[in-house]
Amino acid sequence: MDACPGALQVHRAADGGVARIRLPGGRLTAGQLRTVLDAAAGLGDGSVELTSRANLQIRGLAEGAETELGARLAGAGLLPSATHERVRNIIATPLTGRAAGGLADVRELVRELDEALCARPALAGLPGRFLFTVDDGRSDVAWLDADVAALFVTPDTAAILLGGADVGLRTSDVVATALACAEAFLTLRDDHWRVAELDDGPLRIAEHLGADLVPGPLVSTQPPTNLSPLGLVDQLDGRVAVGAAVPLGWLDQRQGAALVAAGTALVITPWRGVVVTDMPLTSVDAVLAGLSGAGLLLDPREPGVGITACTGRPGCVKALADVRADAATMLALGPAAALPVHWSGCARRCGRPRGRVLDVVATEDGYLVGAEDRALPGDLAAELAAMRRNPT
Ligand code: SF4
Repeated sequence: MDACPGALQVHRAADGGVARIRLPGGRLTAGQLRTVLDAAAGLGDGSVELTSRANLQIRGLAEGAETELGARLAGAGLLPSATHERVRNIIATPLTGRAAGGLADVRELVRELDEALCARPALAGLPGRFLFTVDDGRSDVAWLDADVAALFVTPDTAAILLGGADVGLRTSDVVATALACAEAFLTLRDDHWRVAELDDGPLRIAEHLGADLVPGPLVSTQPPTNLSPLGLVDQLDGRVAVGAAVPLGWLDQRQGAALVAAGTALVITPWRGVVVTDMPLTSVDAVLAGLSGAGLLLDPREPGVGITACTGRPGCVKALADVRADAATMLALGPAAALPVHWSGCARRCGRPRGRVLDVVATEDGYLVGAEDRALPGDLAAELAAMRRNPT
């Protein structure tokens, strides 16, 4: 059974229902964020989680609260399809079309992909974990564990990577090709959840499409980016954007209100950050002060940037520790590690970012720090080794 949560099919966790709200391309308006914040306050525990797929989660929902939540989200335009809501998994380059670095502006393409996905009844049968990414050519999201990734290699042509592999599939019609790949996966799968689980999946899908494959050069794997855009970003149109990291990926009501007040067009990133876009230069000082004053992180050197954590206790029954509380304690103790750190309440490591990450994993005997712990300042490593949480 596919237990991946959605906004209507919630997951029952130890702290209540968990609803996941898909945001194709990470995009939402300030008004839509207001709706989510109000729903979190009125129906859940008040906080809003940012996921590694640039979606939002509300926790602590009472039994049956998903009906009211669904109505609120639909009213705000955040639930365009009840049948396809769990398969609208589309990550896109957060700064596409706004800041230099890409080969194409994929904003409209993401909207078309989402609409076309929801218009095909069979694709409601995709697993809730099945992921599309659309990368405008700067290689920031193509490698985020996508089943179907479109990576622009010229302004008009995208390489379609399947399960992270480039088998030479190229297209000028990303929507049609990406959805054809998803349909081929549904035909070829047995009990598989992801393209990478299918034996020779990438090649079999390309063959199923009858596509002409380019002999090369193929796109090589890149290390994923692990940080959201932070601070001031110059837009191509003369306006500016401001990127902020959300501490531990949990947005509280005060932080959310600061984002709502800052702008109208927001982009959630897959690195637990938010970009406030399309601002005139004259309003930037006030926005920076508002976001920083609410506790959002705007400078890559700030402790907390690059630190993520799973749900842990008390929300997850498998958790051996309250990892968010412990991570917050460690943050208060000193400088950040030299690479992203992910805290997990057990060995499953949910929500772990892709790429090089320092793992801090709760065990029955305290925390186990990953093999790359040389990057952790000595004092912090000692504190961490001493930290204990009783299993129950
Ligand atoms: S890593 Fe373990 S403790 Fe954390 S959310 Fe996943 S299952 Fe729960």
